[in-house]
Amino acid sequence: MLTTSEQIVYTNEAKCRDCYKCVRVCPVNAIRMSGGQASVVNERCIMCGTCIRNCPQNAKTYRRDIHKVREFLDGGYTTAVSIAPSFPALFNEWEIKRIPSLLRKLGFRYVYETAVGAFYSAWFSATELQSKDKRNLVCSACPSFVNYVRKYHPSLTDQLSGVDSPMIAHAKIIRSTVGSDVKTIFIGPCIAKKGEAGEPGNKGLVDAVLTFDELLELTEEKGISIDTLEESCFDSVPAGASRLYPVSGGFFRTAGIDYSGLKDSVTAVSGYEEVSELIRMLKEEKGVIAEALFCQTGCTNGPGLKSDIDLHSRKRRVIRYAAAGAESTGNEYDPMPYTDGSISFARKITPSPVTEKQFTEEQVREVLEHTGRINDSDRLDCGACGYSSCYEKALAVLRGMAEKEMCLPYMKKMAEQRSDKIIESTPNAIVILNYKLEIIKINPAFRRFFVCGNSSIGKPISLIIDPEHFIRLRESREEKTEIQQEHPKYGLVCHQLIYKLKEENQIVGIFVDVTKNLTDTRKLDDLRRQTIIQARELLNHQIEMAQKMAQFLGENTARGEILVENLIQLTADPAKSVNDKSAKNWLWDTGTSKR
Ligand code: SF4
Ligand code: SF4
Repeated sequence: MLTTSEQIVYTNEAKCRDCYKCVRVCPVNAIRMSGGQASVVNERCIMCGTCIRNCPQNAKTYRRDIHKVREFLDGGYTTAVSIAPSFPALFNEWEIKRIPSLLRKLGFRYVYETAVGAFYSAWFSATELQSKDKRNLVCSACPSFVNYVRKYHPSLTDQLSGVDSPMIAHAKIIRSTVGSDVKTIFIGPCIAKKGEAGEPGNKGLVDAVLTFDELLELTEEKGISIDTLEESCFDSVPAGASRLYPVSGGFFRTAGIDYSGLKDSVTAVSGYEEVSELIRMLKEEKGVIAEALFCQTGCTNGPGLKSDIDLHSRKRRVIRYAAAGAESTGNEYDPMPYTDGSISFARKITPSPVTEKQFTEEQVREVLEHTGRINDSDRLDCGACGYSSCYEKALAVLRGMAEKEMCLPYMKKMAEQRSDKIIESTPNAIVILNYKLEIIKINPAFRRFFVCGNSSIGKPISLIIDPEHFIRLRESREEKTEIQQEHPKYGLVCHQLIYKLKEENQIVGIFVDVTKNLTDTRKLDDLRRQTIIQARELLNHQIEMAQKMAQFLGENTARGEILVENLIQLTADPAKSVNDKSAKNWLWDTGTSKR
């Protein structure tokens, strides 16, 4: 099993929110759900990138190879870049003319278009077609399509063309012209090319694969602005119409095969639906000649090419560039030196079937029963889980690819059961009314609060309680109201939350019994009132005391003044007799006696 860093398409677990979106979009069910995480099973994955485009959390991603390219550029290696013919889809006309300069500025020694290799792929495929007799033959530069056939329709592998893809053909040409120690870097819109470069038969030909998105990252990292660059040319010119290769039908044009869409045995397909149709044809018919690309409309819609430009405009840019290239280069086409067979562009594609463990009907039925899919009528085959039928999903559970709980109707039912349980057991009264304010549902607490039974169902709420607040909410634009209401008939005071269920045209009332709280509050208020009265009495008493004290202090002050006066007099007149009447007074007044 590959580690995350070796795997080409993988999940960033921290971002995965368990939404099953990738499971639903993956055309080959290569995503395993386990413990609330969606992981890509490498053996099943065809690297089409569909999950990457569709994940709302950007949790699906692919292996980045920029670090490798940095090493080559900074390590003094001789480097050659091969840029896929879909590159004009990403840039405007002005920028397209500066792409060779950009690649040189980034540090690549040789800058080429993969279209050079595409010409030879088409040339040798056309030769192969001439000798195919009545056999079907599918020419595909698309590794996702090739993976799809090898893994899921292995019996059709021998109907695939035995000629190298443009990337591999070009890598062979680069090695033969620049030298075997060259580091070849392919840049394109495709994630699956990363896998193709690592195939055992291709080892050592392409040293790194960057997507266009990675190219832009590298450009930004190096602080290069295309605006500041000069127009320049690539180091060689591709032959024929090979710059059209990335658009559906481009291979046929390059190979010179009559493809007008009117010959029923010659077909160009793109996108999963058309690919599935082609697979059916290959199984049922003979003499089919096909060109297949897994991305809808072709590589200009590859997962490594993020662009705001619509698919039609991208295609037009490629077509315009191909046409302009042919005009500007006149007869200076590559002299086609490799058509003589001096380089072998043969490839061997071997089947790599995904083996599915088989299970008995009994085992499948057990899983189906677990999620309540007992009878045929319970099996909705809704596809919400990402599998085409309840049966397929049950098989996926047994194969360890899916979790039992991934069934939406089952989850909904469970949630309903759970909420039913809450409604049944809550101590708060709940009533659900229709817009005519007739009772649809009541819970046990409601029956207890308002002394009623299930016979109230269908009757107006006004027969049980004052409906005023329900009426007001129904007539207003408000979504909910929260009030406290007395129900004297039942000796209750309730805190009430009343809200609308708009889609259902229903009104829900939740009643919380606050009678006891209210009684306690009233008791508390009484206590508070009594305390205030007592406090007030105490205060009055203290004021009275204070006044008396003040009076007393006032007397003492007057006496003190007399004493001080006497003392001064005594100090000033030592001869004054202590027997003097006034002197006796002050001695007496400074005593410790109680008064
Ligand atoms: S890359 Fe394609 S095949 Fe692989 S997991 Fe994603 S959607 Fe499935
Ligand atoms: S159509 Fe092109 S970009 Fe898409 S998977 Fe195939 S080769 Fe890659």
